Amino acid sequence: MLQPLRCPVCGRSSIEPVLQKITVQAHSADFHGEIGGLRMYRCTELGHIFFVRKADLEDENPQTMAS
Ligand SMILES: [Zn+2]
Repeated sequence: MLQPLRCPVCGRSSIEPVLQKITVQAHSADFHGEIGGLRMYRCTELGHIFFVRKADLEDENPQTMAS
């Protein structure tokens, strides 16, 4: 399983996983439903929160995460 290398907001490399299996309830003009398959991470220095698709962390394309 890959891990994000940097916070996408501030670019710092101090990242920790917060919740491993979550489902998000999404409501917009043309979509109401659950979105699964996400992982949640937190930037430990500034507290930024971000989500990454679990499928993107499963070693199919490692270069994407390293660049
Ligand atoms: Zn950050």
